[in-house]
Amino acid sequence: MKFSLANKFFSLFSHDIGIDLGTANTLVFVKDKGIVIREPSVVAKHKKTKRIIAIGSDAKKMLGKTPASIQTIRPLRGGVITDFDATEAKIAYYIRQVHEMGKTLPRLLARPKVVIGIPSAVTEVERRAVWEAALSAGAREAYLIEEPMAGAIGEGIGVFQSKGAMVVDIGGGTTEIAVISLGGIVVGRSLKTAGDDMDQAILHYIRLRHGLVIGEKTSEDIKMKIGSAYQRSEKGKVRSEKETDTSHLSPPTSHLDKLMIIRGRDIETGLPRSLKITESEIREALSPILSQITEAVADVLEETPPELLPDILEQGILLTGGGAQLSGMDHLLVDRIHMLVVVSEDSLTSVVRGTGRVLEDEALLERVKVIGGLK
Ligand code: ADP
Ligand code: MG
Repeated sequence: MKFSLANKFFSLFSHDIGIDLGTANTLVFVKDKGIVIREPSVVAKHKKTKRIIAIGSDAKKMLGKTPASIQTIRPLRGGVITDFDATEAKIAYYIRQVHEMGKTLPRLLARPKVVIGIPSAVTEVERRAVWEAALSAGAREAYLIEEPMAGAIGEGIGVFQSKGAMVVDIGGGTTEIAVISLGGIVVGRSLKTAGDDMDQAILHYIRLRHGLVIGEKTSEDIKMKIGSAYQRSEKGKVRSEKETDTSHLSPPTSHLDKLMIIRGRDIETGLPRSLKITESEIREALSPILSQITEAVADVLEETPPELLPDILEQGILLTGGGAQLSGMDHLLVDRIHMLVVVSEDSLTSVVRGTGRVLEDEALLERVKVIGGLK
C-alpha cells in the first residue's frame, strides 16, 4: 500500500467510518464501536446566501416550520444528488462529529478511512463529487459502495460466491433492486418509487376521499401505524379491544382493520377537523405504488441470467430498507413472484452495517468498491 507509514500514523488518531448516505436517513458506523449516528437526511439552508444552517435532526425539526428565508432540503431525494454543497457539508459534518465524540484523539490529526454507501443510480459525476467531498472533509482514503451490495453484506450474504443473491431495498426516495454474484451487481434497477411516494399517495387519497389536508409527517405516521400491503388472513388477525362479541355483525374484513384518528384541515371550511381512517383505505391508497415496486422486482427477475435463478430460489430474496417494515410487504411480494422472501430483522441498518463490515475487511473492500468515475 502507498504511504503505508503515513497511513499507520493517521490511523492512530482516526476512527474509520462507514456512512449510509440514504435518501431518508443517514447512518454512521465507527469501526470497533458500531452505529453511532442515525439522523434524517435533511439539511436546512438559507435561501439567499445558500449558507447551511443545520444538518440532520436539527434541520428536521425545522421542516415545515421554516420562515420564508430558510429552506429545508433532502439533498439526495430521488437517489440523485440534487445538492452537492449540502452533501459535502453533511459528510464533513459527520466526520467531524465522530472525532469530537470521544475527544481522546487530537482532532487535527484525524484522517479517517471512509466507506460510503450510495444509491446505485448515482452518476459517475455525482460519485466523484461524493468521493471528493469525503477527501476534502479530511478522509485519507475514501471508498464508495453501492447500497444494495452494502445491504447484502450487512445481512451476511456471501457476495463473493458465484451463487446469485437478490436484494430489494425499499428506502425513502428509491427502491434498489439488485442481483449480486461474484462481488458485483449482475442485474440492477434503482426505482424512484419508494417510501416517500407511499406518503404522498396517502396524502392525496385523504384529500380526495375525505376533503382533508394533512402534512407529509402525518401521512408517514399513518403509513407506519396502520399501513399495510396485504390483507391479513383470519388467523393472523388483530382485533381492537372494543370488538369482541359484536364482531360477527361486521362485514367479513372490517374487524381485521386497524383504525386511526387523524387531524388535518378541512378543504372547504379551512378549519381543523379529525377523521377516522381505516387500514383497508390506506391499503387501497398504497396499492398503485406497491404494485410498481413488485412489478419492478418481477422485471429484474426476468432479466436475471437463468444460471443464478436456482440460487435465488433456494436462498430467497432479501427485503430490506425502511419500507421492508411495511406490514405485509413480504406477502405481497411472495404473491407476485412466488419465491421465498426474507425480511431483514433490522432493515434500517443493513447498509450501514455493510459499510462497517467492509471497513474491517480489506479484501472485501477491494472487490466491492465502486471504481467508475474515480481515480
Ligand atoms: P433511505 O435508505 O432511502 O434513507 P430508509 O431505508 O432509511 O431509506 O427508509 C426510510 C423509509 O422507510 C421512509 O419512507 C419511512 O417512512 C419508511 N419506513 C420506516 N419504518 C417504516 C414502517 N414501520 N412501515 C412502513 N414504512 C416505514
Ligand atoms: Mg437506504
